[in-house]
Amino acid sequence: VTIPQMFAETVSRFGPREAAVFRASNRRFTYYELDREIDRLASGLLALGLEKGDRIGIWSPNRPEWLITQFATARIGLIMVNINPAYRLSEVEYALNKVGCKALIAADRFRKSDYLGMLATLAPELAACRPGALRAERLPALRSVVRLGSEKTPGMFNFEEVCEIGGPAQQMRLDTVTRALDPDDPINIQFTSGTTGSPKGATLTHYNIVNNAWFTVRTMGFSESDRLCIPVPLYHCFGMVLGTLGCVTAGASMVFPGEAFDAGETLAAVSAERCTAVYGVPTMFIAMLDQPDFRSHDVSSLRTGIMAGAPCPVEVMRRVVRDMHMPEVTIGYGMTETSPISFQSAIDDGLEERVSTVGRIHPHVEVKIVDETGAIVDVGVGGELCTRGYSVMRGYWSDEERTREAIDVGGWMHTGDLAEIDARGYCSIVGRVKDMVIRGGENIYPREIEEFLYRHPKIAEVQVFGVPDEKYGEELAVWIVLQPGESAGEDEIRDYCKGAIAHYKVPRYIRFKDALPMTVTGKPQKFLMREEMAEELQ
Ligand code: ATP
Ligand code: MG
Repeated sequence: VTIPQMFAETVSRFGPREAAVFRASNRRFTYYELDREIDRLASGLLALGLEKGDRIGIWSPNRPEWLITQFATARIGLIMVNINPAYRLSEVEYALNKVGCKALIAADRFRKSDYLGMLATLAPELAACRPGALRAERLPALRSVVRLGSEKTPGMFNFEEVCEIGGPAQQMRLDTVTRALDPDDPINIQFTSGTTGSPKGATLTHYNIVNNAWFTVRTMGFSESDRLCIPVPLYHCFGMVLGTLGCVTAGASMVFPGEAFDAGETLAAVSAERCTAVYGVPTMFIAMLDQPDFRSHDVSSLRTGIMAGAPCPVEVMRRVVRDMHMPEVTIGYGMTETSPISFQSAIDDGLEERVSTVGRIHPHVEVKIVDETGAIVDVGVGGELCTRGYSVMRGYWSDEERTREAIDVGGWMHTGDLAEIDARGYCSIVGRVKDMVIRGGENIYPREIEEFLYRHPKIAEVQVFGVPDEKYGEELAVWIVLQPGESAGEDEIRDYCKGAIAHYKVPRYIRFKDALPMTVTGKPQKFLMREEMAEELQ
C-alpha cells in the first residue's frame, strides 16, 4: 500500500481518536482533524505547482507542521527531504542542492539557529522575489520557501497561506493524484545520522517504510489504545517512520513532549499523558534515569518501547525494565538505509535476551554474516552483518558509487556493523567495522570495554575509541561522563579495569568530560573524539 492509503484506512477506523499531542504548543489533533489539515496543505502544495517526484525539504524541530507535512507530501507523491535541525548555512546549501529541492518548508528559528536569517544569506534574491518565483544563484532548483506560522516574510509563503490557497479545484484533483501513486515510488530522502562522517541521503519508497513501521509496532503489540511518547527527532527515521508512521498503522496516539529532546519534559509527558510506550537512543534513556527528580514522575502507565540507534548497554536496559516500568521494552537494530529496523527483540522474548541482544530478524528480511572475503561464517562466529529484502533502500540519492559500495549485485546491504548470531537466531551487535581498534595486532571491540565500564557505579556515560600510536599502531582512549555529583581520578578507573579485563584492553588515555559530542539524533560521534584526542596527543 501507499502511505495515503494506509492513512485513509486509519482515519476510517479510528477518526475520532486522538492522533497527536504537541505539548510545546499545546495542540491536539484527532485523526479526523489531522486528516483535514493534511488535505488543506496537500491541495496548497498542488496549487504551488508541485508535482509527484518533486523534492521538498523540511527543516524544523518537532512541531505540528512537521507531522502535517509528512503526510501531505506523501498524499501527492512529493519526495520529502528531512533537513537536520542543527544544520548551518553550508550544510543546508549542500543538502538542498544535493537533491535539488524545489520547495522548502522551514521553521523561523530553533534555539540559537535563525533559519530565516540563514536563508536570507543563502538566497539574498528572496527579499525581492514574488513568493514561489525564486531564482537564487546558490540554490538553483529552489522556487518556493514556506515558513512556519502566520507571519509575513518577503519572498516567502507562510504555512497558513499555503493551507488556504488550495481551494475546491485542487481538492478535486487531490484524490486523482493520490490514486495514481505507486507503492514503489520514492517518497523520502532521509539523511543518515552522520555518526561516522558526512550524512548520506537514503532514497526510500512508500512500500519500504509503511511495512517497516507496521512490523516494528506489531512486534511491540501496538493497538489503537497505545500512546507513544516521541522525544526523538522527527527528522530521523526513528521519529518519522517508527514513531509517526508506526502510530498511524495502529491507530495509536503520538505524544510529542517538546521541540527537541529534554529528559525532564519527556518524563513529564509520559506521566501527564499516560503514555504506554516511549522511544529513545541509549543516551536519552540514561538522561531520563539520571534525572534528579526521576522518582517524582509517575511512569506506571509505561509498558513497552524501543531503545535503538547505538549500542544499548545491558546495565541501562536493566534499569529501564526495573525503574521505568517497561517490562516489555525492546531493542531495535537498524539503519536509515533499511527503513530502518531489521532486528528487534519481541515482547515475549526472555528478559536476558531482551536486555543483551537486538533480538531476532524481522519478518521478510534475510540476513547473513560474512568474513573479510565475503564468505558466510559459521553460527556464533562474528563478521559483517548484511541484510536483504523489502526494506533495503533504492540507493543513495544521485550517488551511484556509494550505493554500489553499500548494496552488492545480489541485493545485500552491507551494514558496516559487526555482529554475531547464535543458534536460536538472537543477534548481538559487536560494534562498527570502522570503530574496531587494532592495537599491536590485537583486535579490540570498544563496545566490550564500554559494557564493562558501565557497571562502574560512578559512570554515567562512556565511549572507548582508538587513537593513532607509533608503537602499537593504535592505542585505546576512553571519555567518561560521571554521574551527577561524583568525582573520580584516572587511577581509580585504571585500578577498576586491572585484573578484570585483559591488560591490552585497559585504556591508555582516560579523560573526564562534562558531555560527549553527539549527533542531533543523540549518537556519540567517535570520529570527533578521535580527532580531538589525536590533536591533544600531538
Ligand atoms: P552515518 O551512516 O551517517 O555515519 P549512522 O550510521 O549512525 O550515521 P543511522 O542510519 O541513523 O546513521 O544509524 C544506523 C547505525 O546505528 C547502524 O549501522 C549501527 O551502527 C547503529 N545502531 C543502530 N541500532 C543499534 C543497536 N541496537 N545496537 C548497536 N548499534 C546500533
Ligand atoms: Mg550508517
